[in-house]
Amino acid sequence: MTAMASTGNTAAANSQQTKPNDNLYTATQDLLTFPRYSDLTITCGNRKWRVHKSVVCQRSPFFAKACEGGFKEGSSGVINLAEDDPIVVNELIRHMYAFKIDDQAALPWLGSLVFMVHVVIIADKYDVPRVAKLAETRFSERANTDWATDDFATAIELIYGSTALLKSELPRCVVRVALAHDHVVFAEGKRNAIRAVADRVPEFATALASGMHHKIALTAQAVQGLKSYQCKHCHNVAFEKNMPANLNIYCRSCNTFYPESGFIVSTVLN
Ligand SMILES: [Zn+2]
Repeated sequence: MTAMASTGNTAAANSQQTKPNDNLYTATQDLLTFPRYSDLTITCGNRKWRVHKSVVCQRSPFFAKACEGGFKEGSSGVINLAEDDPIVVNELIRHMYAFKIDDQAALPWLGSLVFMVHVVIIADKYDVPRVAKLAETRFSERANTDWATDDFATAIELIYGSTALLKSELPRCVVRVALAHDHVVFAEGKRNAIRAVADRVPEFATALASGMHHKIALTAQAVQGLKSYQCKHCHNVAFEKNMPANLNIYCRSCNTFYPESGFIVSTVLN
């Protein structure tokens, strides 16, 4: 009785955190581990997945077409993905069932970011945009923290080497992340993996230059109209928008208001 009550409470607590759709996906995810009613087999390398047409054909027009009458795959109930990597195929299938990304699934010799890029590539190839979007989002989150790794640099090269990915969010994402750390990436005399990629991949270098131009323009815009107010009492400098001349100006350092005549005023940028 106590156990029942406690389970009930946990369920109630969980239902506040999870969206209704999550339960549906959990149920679909379970299907993959119970292939009893499987009506389609996907093979790749030496691996085999017993899946359900009702799931994979709904998620992917590619599989739907392959299962349509007339195709060899449709009648044999086996689809062989000969060109692909079994580890990446496994992720694609798992995501089609669960719509969850697990970048920890990456293998020691394959970094998480590179692995996510492979998931985006295969999701694009087999036309499962929702999985591609999920992997892109996860990539973007992880890139913010892992930008200084070789994994990030290798991912950039992989992204720019894939025509299919150039229309995705990934090129913009890697440029944004690299520019967020431009003080490190472009520090004088410092070589690093990101710059080495820019040396090899002209499209990436151009995108960086263009992003940098945009960033400088934005900074200039923010600085425009700013004046520097150097306090004549303490020589501390504050930057303020053009203050009306009749208004007293606050010096944070003296913790005092002075008239404008108490400051040496100069324009920051015209
Ligand atoms: Zn002062």
